[in-house]
Amino acid sequence: MMNSRLNHLLEEYADLERGVQGLISAQCRETCELCTARCCRADICEEALDSPFLQTLHGHTELESDRCGFLTEYGCSLEIGRPPVCYEFFCEEILESQPDELHRDVLRILGRLPAFAGEQAHGKTHLVEIMQEDRLEKLNFQTLEKRLHQSFRMLEIIRTFYIEGTLPEDACKTLRQIPVSAGA
Ligand code: SF4
Ligand code: SF4
Repeated sequence: MMNSRLNHLLEEYADLERGVQGLISAQCRETCELCTARCCRADICEEALDSPFLQTLHGHTELESDRCGFLTEYGCSLEIGRPPVCYEFFCEEILESQPDELHRDVLRILGRLPAFAGEQAHGKTHLVEIMQEDRLEKLNFQTLEKRLHQSFRMLEIIRTFYIEGTLPEDACKTLRQIPVSAGA
């Protein structure tokens, strides 16, 4: 039977991922839909099968196709459990579509939230890089709960930023926990 702390962690991480995905999609959808050179790659998709944590989240046991991995004509077929790098990468076109450097930095921070939330899950190992399934029962749950809590705070700050268009100084300070280039 799955440990209840692990179950709780899976639920919280899934909520964070859905929140991040929704905001990123709102920023990128238009550009990505017209893109003829999609950045998705089957070897990245495979990471979602190799990682026991991600595999438990999405439940798939094989790729949709050898060539395109989980990418279909409707986009990524994984609702959740995508490798964090899928949220971290923004091409030049996406970055240029942002109105200014502050928006670019906020987008980069948003994309780093799933990776940030899973750091130091077992010793120094990241949550999605744990390859032995039995280790998922022995995670640094306290550390992960704290990181998730911080990630949700940052997600809310970013959600508000997209509605109001401004970033108060204390919100900016919270977001700076995730270092990106200049600006934020
Ligand atoms: S992020 Fe850029 S390269 Fe990737 S699918 Fe979207 S527009 Fe294309
Ligand atoms: S977003 Fe989906 S299809 Fe694209 S690389 Fe990631 S897992 Fe694969």
